[in-house]
Formats: sequence, structure tokens, C-alpha cells
Amino acid sequence: MKAIICNNFFDGNGLEMMHGQTLLIEHGKIVSFRASDEMEIPEGAEIIDAGDRTVMPGLIDCHDHLASFGYDIASRWGLTEQATHRHMRIANVLRQTLESGYTTVRDAGGLAAGFRDAVDEGLASGPRLLVSLGIISPTGGIGEHLSPSGYGNPLVSDPSLPCGVANGPVEMRTKVREMVRSGADVIKFAATGGASSRSGLEPRDMLISREEITAIVDEAHFLGRKVMCHALGGPGLRASIEAGVDSVEHGTFLHEDPALVDMMAKKGIFFTPTFSVYKYHSKKGSPHGRRRAIELQSDHVASLAAAVEGGVPVASGTDAGGWVHGNNAEELSCLVDAGMSPAQALRAATGAAATCVGLQECVGTLDEGKQADLIFVEGNPLDDVSTLEYGRNVSLVMKGGDVVYRNG
Ligand SMILES: [Zn+2]
Repeated sequence: MKAIICNNFFDGNGLEMMHGQTLLIEHGKIVSFRASDEMEIPEGAEIIDAGDRTVMPGLIDCHDHLASFGYDIASRWGLTEQATHRHMRIANVLRQTLESGYTTVRDAGGLAAGFRDAVDEGLASGPRLLVSLGIISPTGGIGEHLSPSGYGNPLVSDPSLPCGVANGPVEMRTKVREMVRSGADVIKFAATGGASSRSGLEPRDMLISREEITAIVDEAHFLGRKVMCHALGGPGLRASIEAGVDSVEHGTFLHEDPALVDMMAKKGIFFTPTFSVYKYHSKKGSPHGRRRAIELQSDHVASLAAAVEGGVPVASGTDAGGWVHGNNAEELSCLVDAGMSPAQALRAATGAAATCVGLQECVGTLDEGKQADLIFVEGNPLDDVSTLEYGRNVSLVMKGGDVVYRNG
């Protein structure tokens, strides 16, 4: 048994810093959490005093690409290094991400289920993982990854990462089943273009039919999987919300159609903005990617404001992987820059994020009965959320009751 003395803590439920509680952990779970002066610490328990540090739930990223290292086609096709070398690189990112304070990550495409299973088995250090495998889209959509000259990946496809291309409602259902067969925890599909999509496929362009979207959502829900939908704006965004996806990823032009905000709030559809990736796209992307990322910036901010104002649940996602790993918390600074309070941003990466990914019974808040996933942070992230960036002030990470990282 472990007893954590929390002088300052943020529990992931409310929006306030709280004080003077002690938390008991047994068999990986929080078994008791009450005022320190009322808590009897059982004899033999290991006592960990957080001192001045803030104790908070382990952070959750709802949209990461842990196996991605750039948008260049050679890297995407796996031509730049041997697969074994790449696997070790991914293992390194998993450890780095965990040690920066992220104890749960939902991968939005590219990470095979074997990494999740290896982490669960204790073969590698990493966050709890939910994987989506391939991004489902029709021919010409963002799941295709063609070279600029129009060639497809010449390599034999990997059964652990099914190609996401499918056409027509029947193939869409088959594709969802294929993803689930290969270990997908969640289904990801793309309803529109994006900042990094090929030239000619713009962020408001819809490249999938309503029937296809309905088939994906229906089949995924039938198989007990949530659906995360890449949609920036336009009719593809509307059709996806109408079809009942579970989260809208990016959603940069959501504010252009206020009825959609209401619809998301009523249906409990999460909004997962991804500000940090656009910062990088606007500086380092292809010419058309840079233009799109710059153009959508103010719309993205307006969409976040509309979502918060309209009661849409917001979850934090970084879309990391294209440009940078290990600084997922940069997104929290971006959310604050875009108008959220630090506490709202922290909730978007803890309690709200857990609900977004369907793990609300297991992680996301410091509550009795949940997994003991928590971090110690120097300073007060409720005053300055940037203290979490790069995990540089994270001094302890606990996952499932085990201290997996300690610095000082
Ligand atoms: Zn993404």
C-alpha cells in the first residue's frame, strides 16, 4: 500500500486547486482519498509526501501519432530506416511521452496494436494506449498517402496496420471490421481534407458520402468502438456530426455553422481541437499546408470559443508526430492562448479526456476506485499551464500505482 500526501492537488473534476488530502493506493487503484487529518495511514504503507508540488491526474492526449516522424513520403512509407530501428524509435517516444506526464494516449493513426500490448505486458515503458490503426477514407482521401507524383506505397502492406482506403458503404463496414480484427480500440475516419492533405483537397472539401459515414459509425458502434472523425469544416463536418460520431478532431471551422455546436452539445459529441500541430504546419509545412494553417488559425480559436460557450465537451489532442514528440503539453498552452482558463485546459486533458476516449471509469480523475495514474508537478499549473511543457517540471509519474518515473 502507498499513501500520497497531497498538500496541493487538482483532481480533474472541478476547476480549483484543493489542499490537505491523503490518498491511499492498493493494487494499483485509489482506495481512499480524504482529509489528511482524518486519514489513518495503515502501518507498513509507503508514505510519499508531495510537499509543495501539485498532485494531479496523469495527463491524457486524445489525438497523437506516436509512430509518425514527419510528413515526407519516404518516412510514411517506411523507407528511411529498417522496421526494427523504427520500432525502437517508437519505444523511445512511448517512454518519453510517459515521463513527460502523459499516462494515457489515444493514437489517431499509424501505431500498431502490438505496442499497446507490449506496454500492457510490461515489455516497454509507455502510456496506456488506445489505437485506431489506419485512417479510413475513400480513394483520394487522407488515408491514402500517395507520393506527390501519384504512386502508392510499393511495399507489401502490413496486416497489423490495414490500409484505410475503402469505397462505398459495404467496403466501409468491411474496413471497420478489418481494423477491429487487427486490434483497433477506436475507429478513425476522415470526412474532409486538412492542412496537410494533398494539394487540391482543401479543409472544407468533403470526400466521403453520407452513406459511407453512416456505415462507418453504425458498424463501429455495433462492434463497441467509438468513432473519432477528422473533419475541419463544410458539409463533411455536418454529415459526421449528424451521423453521431463520438468526437470531432480538429473542427477548425465549427463556428461557421452554429447549429452544429448545439447538435454536438445535445449529442455529447466531443470537440478535440489540435492547435499545436497547426503552429508547426504554418511554419514548416508544404506551401499549401502553410497557407491553410495560417488561414484557419482565427477560425480555430473562434470554434473553440463557440464550443465552450455552447456547452460542447472539449478534450485535448495534439496531433503530435508530424513534427515533434515529447511536448504534448504544448497543446495546453495553446488552449490557454486560445481563450480557455488553465483549469479548463487541464480538465480537457484529464477528466474530460478520459470520457472522450471512453476510460472515464478507469482514469482521468483522482477518485476512489480509479487507477492510480498521477503526476507530481513543481509549481502551480493552474497559475501557469506552461509549467507542464516538455514534462520539465514533472518530478514523479505514477501509472497504475507504480512509480514509473522520478526526477529528484
Ligand atoms: Zn491526426
